Amino acid sequence: MSSNRLIRIASRVTRTATPRSPLTLSSTLPRRRTFWSSSAPTETPLELASNSIPSISDSLLPIILAVVLASSSSQDDDDNASSPPWRVEATSKGFGAFATRQLQLGELLIAERPLCIWPQGLSEAQAKEHFQRMSDKEQKVFLQLSRTEGDGPVRDLDEIRAIRATNGFSLQMPGTGVTAGFVFPRIARINHSCAPNCSQSMNFETLRMEVYAITPIASSTEISIDYLPLITSTRAERQRALKESFGFSSCLCPVCTASPEEVEKSDARRREIKQLGEGVRTGKNDRKGTIIKLERIRVLLQEEGYQSLPEFEDMSVSNAYAVYAGMYQRSLREGRE
Ligand SMILES: [Zn+2]
Repeated sequence: MSSNRLIRIASRVTRTATPRSPLTLSSTLPRRRTFWSSSAPTETPLELASNSIPSISDSLLPIILAVVLASSSSQDDDDNASSPPWRVEATSKGFGAFATRQLQLGELLIAERPLCIWPQGLSEAQAKEHFQRMSDKEQKVFLQLSRTEGDGPVRDLDEIRAIRATNGFSLQMPGTGVTAGFVFPRIARINHSCAPNCSQSMNFETLRMEVYAITPIASSTEISIDYLPLITSTRAERQRALKESFGFSSCLCPVCTASPEEVEKSDARRREIKQLGEGVRTGKNDRKGTIIKLERIRVLLQEEGYQSLPEFEDMSVSNAYAVYAGMYQRSLREGRE
């Protein structure tokens, strides 16, 4: 389980406190069709009912209840989780999720309940105990998920912990400081890309993970999210991080598999984005300078074909960019009207 993944998801939870307004930056890179995939499928995936009750560890139950009750949602409790607009297909690289129709920018693709919510740092025996308390069907759904077969720490784990590490999200429950591992079986089928076409965030009001399209997506295109916040990392740094956290032997997304010249340009853009982020953090009192830097970040992201909100090491920089991007979008819309 990756702490980076935790940080990223936690920050997206913060950002989705208000209705999400995805970015509409147009892509300058070719359409992304190939992504890193996990192991090949063996049979048709089983599915659970969309409102099934997750397997929650006894120690976490009071915390989860407190978080959900405090969020007191009036939302519909069945947000299209039963039929997401994608098909899980086997490709030469393994499973992938492919759009079954044209998807709109900002469209909610799925809002999925976790299959299980277990504490972090389980021993092999504890993981087995949690697993055995799931129903037969839940166990089957769990075991059908992929496990990483590459190098790295995940490879040496027993099957249950390896599947959880490969597919799980580490989420910090708001207001508690407690982190747990959540597995979402349908969302687990979505592969990683370093310039994804979808974005995910946890909605604790409904206890569901939501996936949104952050660009229009043509039918039959592979759907992708980013597993780690890697916008400020060069290709080599991304390969290292993905290998360490998930055991990927290499990322096969279009950014990582572009020509050496294109990779060099991409690395330069990402290095500059990182530097600019650092400049925003240290130059907070220079408002004019901050705006110039945020605008430059926007241009670089556009060139990079990165449509999600970037995440910087310092959360305040990520939030500053999110505000700037929102204002930019609004000014575009107003300019059109
Ligand atoms: Zn990549």
